[in-house]
Amino acid sequence: MSKVLRSALGWLLAYALCVWPAAARVPTPWPPVLAETLEASLDDPHSVLEPERRRAVAAQGEERFWRWLAVSRLEWTLEMDEAAAHSVQRAGDALAAMPQAPPEAAWWLQAARLKLAVVGADAAAQVRPLAALRAQIPPGPSVLRCDLLDIETWVLHLIDSLDEAWRSAEAQGACGQETGWSFFEAQAALVQGQIASADKGRPDARAAVLAHFARAESLLASGGARYLRSLVAYAAAMSLGGMAIPADALPFAERALAASRDLGDRAGIAAGLIELADLDIDMGRPAAALPRLQEAEGLLGDIGDTSRPVHVNSLRLRAMTALRHPGLAMALEQAARLDLSTQLPKTQQQLALAMAEAQAALGRHEAAYASMQRARKLEEQARQIGRDTQVLLLQARYDTARRDAEIANLKHRDDAAQLSLQAQAATQRALWVVLAALTLLLTAAAFLGWRAWRSRRELAALALRDELTGLPNRRAIEAYARAQLVQSQRLGLPFTLVLLDLDHFKQVNDRFGHPAGDALLQALSRVVPQVLRAPDRLGRWGGEEFMLVLPGTRSDEIGGVFARLLTAFGVVDVAGLPSPHGVTFSMGGVQAGPGDGFDALLKQADDRLYAAKDAGRATWR
Ligand code: GH3
Ligand code: MG
Ligand code: MG
Repeated sequence: MSKVLRSALGWLLAYALCVWPAAARVPTPWPPVLAETLEASLDDPHSVLEPERRRAVAAQGEERFWRWLAVSRLEWTLEMDEAAAHSVQRAGDALAAMPQAPPEAAWWLQAARLKLAVVGADAAAQVRPLAALRAQIPPGPSVLRCDLLDIETWVLHLIDSLDEAWRSAEAQGACGQETGWSFFEAQAALVQGQIASADKGRPDARAAVLAHFARAESLLASGGARYLRSLVAYAAAMSLGGMAIPADALPFAERALAASRDLGDRAGIAAGLIELADLDIDMGRPAAALPRLQEAEGLLGDIGDTSRPVHVNSLRLRAMTALRHPGLAMALEQAARLDLSTQLPKTQQQLALAMAEAQAALGRHEAAYASMQRARKLEEQARQIGRDTQVLLLQARYDTARRDAEIANLKHRDDAAQLSLQAQAATQRALWVVLAALTLLLTAAAFLGWRAWRSRRELAALALRDELTGLPNRRAIEAYARAQLVQSQRLGLPFTLVLLDLDHFKQVNDRFGHPAGDALLQALSRVVPQVLRAPDRLGRWGGEEFMLVLPGTRSDEIGGVFARLLTAFGVVDVAGLPSPHGVTFSMGGVQAGPGDGFDALLKQADDRLYAAKDAGRATWR
């Protein structure tokens, strides 16, 4: 995804840079001949890069600045991040040496720097400065504004803040129309196609996605544009692949790869190979994926991209797992050595899931669970980044509104210098009243939202918790058991379900009173979870009967579990009962077979519990 967007963006900016000065009343940094050269980058950016570099080296003064900036954009498009950073630096030096630089120059430079800062885990941090920079641009049609919207759309999509990305894409499309640069509209349509593909549950999702990409293509219809066209095909392939319709995605991916090979675009070839390998696996041809991944890895070596090697490793693990490949253990070791510190949570999550499946296939159940757990945590982290970004953007919008109000106020004071101080104070007061009201409103809304959230959470917790013991209630423990059963069966891990029932509990009530019985139930509920492993869970099934969910446990381990629990329970002190209390329990447990459903397991566990009671209690079956 990043490949497509950044490439299109980079090209756009390079192109915009060359035509923008004429359109936007800036000292002319580009001779017209340059526009022709850069226009060629739409078709083949590699071929323009070297000549552009030579011209930048030779240029002087302001022209030097714009040329280095254009070179950096080309390099960024081609994913040569280090070179791009270097060129931005040289543009910055050229700008510093200019006695009277137009303010636009500094903004363009700032935009280039922010774009370079959008890497992996730091991506979300650039949202706020981008919005702030956009707020500095004077009103009116502006290609720079379109370009900044372009970057914002890209970042928001990258960090999965999809609602905000959609909003930004719409603004970007409108900006493209306003300025007459249809490439911005094409770019917006491309992202909208990708966002629409995330909504794959919608009945008309496939048609909607295809329509967005068709629109992107039709907006690029004039000229050769092989490069940009390959990016659209590539984005379509990724989106349709992500919607689990690999057969639809395949022709797009093949088209993109052929175009990249045709252009000698190494990053593009690697991206195309990775996408095709992904589709191979989804279409049940894991063996075909391996050579593609190997070729991609070879190409990535000298590109310097950091996220794609992680994708290659994830896909290789998935392919090898499907093939029960003898090299799986080694591939797993290689994946475990990857440096993930700069990766987005969702990239890491994909790897963790692939590792879990590989570990399960190798019988390393503990490790598989740990990987699964990590994947779940990363998924939550990714969601959190999306939520934080939304708050940030709301804040940025509020800041802009306030700034506009202040500017309006200053202007007003300027224009009406003859107005009395009193009138000014009134304006000021009104402004403050508006601000205070707004703040109050926001605070109230936040408070109400928080309260609703809290009471919802409390209600949800209540609905799932047993009041007396604080354990998961019948509904909750059943849901947990069902989910763990499905997951264990998918990963081929053992899963055991147990029913536990106190022996002669009626007599406890009769002899020591109902409150003592209650205290005994609470003691059991406190003590048992302390001796269970992390994924194991105890829930109250009803009365003095409990359910134990034991993922990762085999039936030959039930006896050990029983002994541990009974020992721990036997020594606990209970208010109102003698010490030791002398109460025991019985257990019936069963390990799930490959096709077993929850209801069948429950019935078997119940039968075994009865058998344990029949056998004299204080035992298990
Ligand atoms: P067995 O060994 O066959 O299981 O005998 P039992 O006495 O444990 O089983 P039975 O089903 O005959 O009686 C269960 C008793 O548990 C009856 C009921 O009053 C008591 N009970 C159910 N829920 C609670 C509760 O929340 N608190 C208390 N104190 N007692 C309860
Ligand atoms: Mg009982
Ligand atoms: Mg009972």
